[in-house]
Amino acid sequence: MIKAMPVSNPSPPTTSAAASACWKRELAEAVRDPIELCRLLDLDQTLAGPAAVAGSSFPLLVPRGFIARMKPGDPTDPLLLQVLPRVEECEEIVGFSADPLAEQQARRAGGLIQKYAGRALLLLTGGCAVNCRYCFRREFPYAASGATPAGLQAALRELAADPSIHEVILSGGDPLLFDDRQLDQLVVALGAIPHVRRLRIHSRLPVVLPSRVTEDLTALLAASRLAVSLVIHANHAAELDSTVAEGLARLTAGVPLRFNQAVLLRGVNDDAAVLAALSERLIDLGVAPYYLHLLDPVRGAAAFAVSEARGRELLDQLRRRLPGYAVPRLARELPGEPSKVWIA
Ligand SMILES: *Cc1c(COP(=O)(O)O)cnc(C)c1O
Ligand code: SF4
Repeated sequence: MIKAMPVSNPSPPTTSAAASACWKRELAEAVRDPIELCRLLDLDQTLAGPAAVAGSSFPLLVPRGFIARMKPGDPTDPLLLQVLPRVEECEEIVGFSADPLAEQQARRAGGLIQKYAGRALLLLTGGCAVNCRYCFRREFPYAASGATPAGLQAALRELAADPSIHEVILSGGDPLLFDDRQLDQLVVALGAIPHVRRLRIHSRLPVVLPSRVTEDLTALLAASRLAVSLVIHANHAAELDSTVAEGLARLTAGVPLRFNQAVLLRGVNDDAAVLAALSERLIDLGVAPYYLHLLDPVRGAAAFAVSEARGRELLDQLRRRLPGYAVPRLARELPGEPSKVWIA
């Protein structure tokens, strides 16, 4: 157990079983079969053949609400490309490895990973509501990496013992797969560590499964003394439909700061007009563009790579189109560096 300390608001949020049942059901009903995905989108079923092969070690997973935002009959739909396994994933490409960011070396205790001063990542779970084909953690050994109940307790003890950490970043997998009761316990435990002042949540669920944004979630975050921020993950404006807008609106009271991180992906958003539309839609929803990441060279994701030179060019075009606050930072992560490396 961590040291006990009075917490500003220890009362649990009112349970809203219906809202919780809703997102859990949607998650359980997510599409896992490439043939079904092709059928839902009126796509040639031959696309599903290689998909079944390529998806076997990191299977297809996509919620139906996200599929509803894809254009039927279009095999190049930018949302489809992010989730449909391709046969190229099986090719070994030089420079693309299982742990490109050397995260295994940055582990401290349990699911706690620290690379940067003053802040640390807490891995809560290996699960996600969607399996993004370009994900740098697609081969991450979560079970052996402390994303377990015992690992969480060890991480909390380590955090409590290190006064240099002021910000805890919930990550994964997707930390919002923890339900509101589990998150409430965790937020209270973090709030009881005096030197932790800020809580950041990195999650793709507000985009791919907006029903996850329950009133209880907002309430439990609003109740914490910690300054809370949320970093969502959307790569294309078409991901941000009205269901996402409604979820973000529900969250406003609990999370004053909202950011987006995106990955620069060939065929998805490697185009100035597409990136500008993403930024504008985000701003309209009260979300500031934060990082635009260059792809991490994880095995299986080479088809998405965009060169650094092309990234700089795109950023240059964005600066000509958008107000400064709507331009993301182009960044890449290099193992051993004291921060993300800003490219443009
Ligand atoms: C990306 C990352 C962070 C967050 O970096 P910020 O620049 O603070 O957004 C923190 N820890 C690790 C290990 C990361 O990979
Ligand atoms: S939601 Fe994030 S962690 Fe999960 S598969 Fe997608 S990119 Fe990876």
